[in-house]
Amino acid sequence: HADELVARLRAHLRQNRVAAHRVAAERDDWYRDTIAHRRFTMHYQPIVDMTCGEVEATEALVRFDDGTSPVDVFHTPDHHDRRVELELEIVAAVTDDLASGAVSVPVHVNVSPAAALDPRLGELVHGTGRPLVLEITENAAFDAHDAATLRAQMPPTCRLAADDVGAGYAGLVQLVGVQPDLIKIDREIVSSIDTDPARQVVVSGLIEFAATTGAELVAEGIETAAEAAFLIEIGVRLGQGYFFGRPAPLAAGTVLDPDLDTDDIGPVTAA
Ligand code: C2E
Ligand code: MG
Ligand code: MG
Ligand code: MG
Repeated sequence: HADELVARLRAHLRQNRVAAHRVAAERDDWYRDTIAHRRFTMHYQPIVDMTCGEVEATEALVRFDDGTSPVDVFHTPDHHDRRVELELEIVAAVTDDLASGAVSVPVHVNVSPAAALDPRLGELVHGTGRPLVLEITENAAFDAHDAATLRAQMPPTCRLAADDVGAGYAGLVQLVGVQPDLIKIDREIVSSIDTDPARQVVVSGLIEFAATTGAELVAEGIETAAEAAFLIEIGVRLGQGYFFGRPAPLAAGTVLDPDLDTDDIGPVTAA
């Protein structure tokens, strides 16, 4: 009887292994195809100086042709070998957009620590001759030593942003060590900031933290005028979110220029 159970268990495990293999092979095909044919478009979302309405910068966000969510690719524990290759291809696509002259403000790109530290990223960034801001998620394993390595291989105009700050459990000590030039407050904290005292406490703390460390603050995920007004009131200058403009592709001939008025932003693609 026990033998029979063991045999069944073995067969079951073998089946699981075969299935896992197939899924891995399919994922590998997806990565190879997506990279080789650039089956994605970059969208850009304005980062606005909320005190005057000028577009100060823009964040590049990938949109895959087949609708795959960037969260599924970049925030899953399964770190596929080809993910860094994909990230580099995405940055190459951004630098192509920059070369077309369609964007005049500094561009933020999201990178994982592995992609950030890849020497090929340094080459791409040097090649653009344009100021880029590299956004690295706060929770990622990225310490003071990594930050120093990154800075050494980047042009001095290139800046480092800690993304999604306040959302996870990364220590503030780690953040002090990384010395980011910008701190992006996670949208989970920005949401309902105007009415939630707990979130207000966190943002006040981050304002002090930023002032002490010399970092600039960006609030992300601003969806309402009330949230924007509250953030301006307590001293956050830079904001990003659907309230100011959704991520949108660069339409032919569209120039995302710094003198756009906030009222004109809407979708950045306006022809
Ligand atoms: P993130 O870097 O924190 O980007 C902000 C996310 O919030 C984007 O989601 C954006 O579309 C969304 N968002 C912006 N404003 C609002 C708002 O007002 N309300 C709400 N509800 N959402 C808003 P998205 O594009 O789905 O990207 C999710 C995450 O995937 C990004 O978070 C980033 O970590 C990663 N990601 C996206 N594009 C890339 C990329 O090109 N390369 C890499 N390595 N990661 C990327
Ligand atoms: Mg980001
Ligand atoms: Mg973010
Ligand atoms: Mg976020």
